[in-house]
Amino acid sequence: MAISKVIVVGAGPSGLLLALLLANAGINVQVLEAASKLDGSPRATHYSWPAIYELQRAGLLSEVRERGFVTWGGIQWRDLEGNLLARFNPDAITKDYRLHCFPLGELCALIKEHLDRCPNVEVKYLHKALKVDQTQKGAQVWAETPEGEQKFEADYLVGCDGASSRIRSALFGDDFPGRTWDEQIVATNVYYNIERHGWDQGAFIVDPNHWSMALQISLDGMLRVTYGEVPGLTKEQYLARLPEKYRTILPGHPSPGDYKVVNFSPYKIHQRCAKSFRVGRILLAADAAHLCNPFGGLGLTGGIVDVGNLFDCLNGIHQGLASDSILDRYSEVRREKYFTIIDPVSSSNLRRLIQEPGVAMKDDDLFKMADKFRDADFCAQLSLVRDANIKQGFYEIIATNNIPYLNRA
Ligand SMILES: Cc1cc2nc3c(=O)[nH]c(=O)nc-3n(C[C@H](O)[C@H](O)[C@H](O)COP(=O)(O)OP(=O)(O)OC[C@H]3O[C@@H](n4cnc5c(N)ncnc54)[C@H](O)[C@@H]3O)c2cc1C
Repeated sequence: MAISKVIVVGAGPSGLLLALLLANAGINVQVLEAASKLDGSPRATHYSWPAIYELQRAGLLSEVRERGFVTWGGIQWRDLEGNLLARFNPDAITKDYRLHCFPLGELCALIKEHLDRCPNVEVKYLHKALKVDQTQKGAQVWAETPEGEQKFEADYLVGCDGASSRIRSALFGDDFPGRTWDEQIVATNVYYNIERHGWDQGAFIVDPNHWSMALQISLDGMLRVTYGEVPGLTKEQYLARLPEKYRTILPGHPSPGDYKVVNFSPYKIHQRCAKSFRVGRILLAADAAHLCNPFGGLGLTGGIVDVGNLFDCLNGIHQGLASDSILDRYSEVRREKYFTIIDPVSSSNLRRLIQEPGVAMKDDDLFKMADKFRDADFCAQLSLVRDANIKQGFYEIIATNNIPYLNRA
């Protein structure tokens, strides 16, 4: 049965991307967003190739590269004194398979520009989803709007409304299985020159107290500096501690006059996955469905792949190539990817940083391969295999349902 309309709740990067993929395939979409504008908080910046693939088929990749950049420096790990522990050689990784950098706020703005050119998409700000219901034929959502509470209906409703998803809690209450880390992080955007200290595009710092990362996120020299902090302080207290943190972790031990902070936000971090990404006509994707800590950039990368998989399923239904039951496979496959890839890999990315460097170099499985990281072909092979595993869901869904590839760009 052709789909007449999909409602997406949440105009974050995942909701906007899903809306664009659906709209490009001729499906009508309404996006309900609680806020009055798109989000620009210091969150996702880096995406690996499974996400790049989805950005490419949504028609966004050339502008992502023009406005952002393809990384070239190779991931590095250093100790607190700045000594290099390991460096991943990216030289044999071709452009399409390298990490791409494009901060989340700019990505949302770019997708919105494309949506504004689609006659079959409507983005409604100040529309906060409150509750949902469904029948066998469709889903309904009630939203708080400037004109009072209103009801919206569609064939399917997708919750892309982030970590505190109202759609997820409407389906499962407070049940969001997983754990919250004891560790606290603070994410900042700052102008500071690390290149002149020989750090290229940045590094992860391995240290039991001052674990952190400093990575270039714009070509004019802005960095994302994210570091561990003691839990339980106020935002003001974290801000007051920032100069001492920067002095300790950044090369050259800068004073406040040496850098310019442009964004700052403390975050609690979680590893959680919803019981199912589908209940009848209501679906979940990205942070509404699963969470992980940000070290290694698997959060939105995983969310974007959810969105690509979900788009293929909905488009398959729309084109009469798949039955509605393919949405059960969406949920099964994406949950399996969370538990086998996203959760364990992101957890070990963080644990690897919170230890004495000497111990890490001896015991950590990744650092045991540090010598091999000088071999460009080895690194290219490793990144292809690792990331293919995140992507694999799409092929499984399509293959097990005998659907030809849909809407290849
Ligand atoms: C410090 C940090 C760094 C990160 N770095 C990376 C990285 O480099 N790479 C990576 O892949 N991931 C990274 N992540 C994770 C990434 O930012 C998230 O996975 C991503 O933002 C999730 O996108 P989303 O669209 O699912 O949700 P969100 O971005 O949270 O968007 C949800 C949207 O829904 C709206 N909304 C909420 N409730 C309602 C409601 N009731 N009704 C209507 N609208 C609603 C919100 O206003 C918001 O606009 C990072 C996260 C953090 C904290």
